[in-house]
Amino acid sequence: MYREKDMEPKSSPDLARHPPDVTYHDSTSRVTRHASRPRIAVYWTGSCGGCDVSFLEVGEAVVEILSHVEIAFWPALVDVKRSDLEALPPGYIDFSLINGVIRTEENYEMAKLLRAKSRYIVAYGACAHLGGVPSLANNWGKEEIFAVVFGPGFRPGSPVGEDNEAQLPDLIRVAVPLEEVVRVDYAVPGCPPPAPLIDRFFGALLSGEMPEPPYVFANVKALCEECPRERHDDRRIERIHRPHEIVPDPKECLLEQGLICLGPVTCGGCDALCPDAGMPCTGCLGPTPEAGDPGAAMLSALASLVRFEDEGEQYFAKEDEALEALADPLGTFYMYSFGKYRRVR
Ligand code: SF4
Ligand code: SF4
Repeated sequence: MYREKDMEPKSSPDLARHPPDVTYHDSTSRVTRHASRPRIAVYWTGSCGGCDVSFLEVGEAVVEILSHVEIAFWPALVDVKRSDLEALPPGYIDFSLINGVIRTEENYEMAKLLRAKSRYIVAYGACAHLGGVPSLANNWGKEEIFAVVFGPGFRPGSPVGEDNEAQLPDLIRVAVPLEEVVRVDYAVPGCPPPAPLIDRFFGALLSGEMPEPPYVFANVKALCEECPRERHDDRRIERIHRPHEIVPDPKECLLEQGLICLGPVTCGGCDALCPDAGMPCTGCLGPTPEAGDPGAAMLSALASLVRFEDEGEQYFAKEDEALEALADPLGTFYMYSFGKYRRVR
């Protein structure tokens, strides 16, 4: 866990000191209001916007889903402001689906506010679940990030002549997944979540059969279990390739063809859409409980695949050479989970 002081926004000491650890579990009816529609909120923090758009993945069913819920707060869809959320009573919202990483003071404050107003919090998408792609930036300090993105000497502040309301929120020290800031009840993983998991989540929500939290809407078994590609126990790889370098055989396991596919350590649940289409899995559903740290687990899987039958120094050197061809190990193994699994300076 990161230390709380790494994330506390300087401007909101009260929120930071008094986290609203309010629980709104109702033991008689955990989830549904059978006589009325569940109230939902959808909010993005440090997000690319893809998760908000992902609801369209389920096609026309999105109309049916939305007709069975009441939208209490969804700034991308309805003209609502933070003050509208602040005015709601505690626990008013049944499910708040939050997508995006926690990266700014504003993200932090909104996550706390939504927690206070909601019975259940859902980490929606890889960024909220594990830190996602934006948390790879934790490899650098925020001063370096500002310098690279905005140029030397940049500081967040009010535009000249503007009042404080126009001020950009500052970055917190590191980008973290939602669970580092508030209690999270459910996760719908993916970048963005794929249609089968969105279906599964809303199916449970609307039927009133939500599982006991905490719960992740993905398979416990690894993606390889649902992948249609053929694997061979005796196959070894002599060379690692990047996806643009080869045209893989359409039926054989991609990893055995030298493409780094994270299927062995990643939760299933997406119907293996990427490997089926010829693209190796990059791990967006997160590691299986058995795998744990995805980098360590994948390195061990890879080490047993890149192994030459013969013993001797010349073969060790060949193995090292094969492994060294792996470009960007950090981005490959922790593309979506750096915020959760890797410590930062
Ligand atoms: S999980 Fe992927 S789609 Fe969703 S906000 Fe993060 S980067 Fe965008
Ligand atoms: S292609 Fe990837 S997901 Fe499919 S079997 Fe091979 S390693 Fe597993």
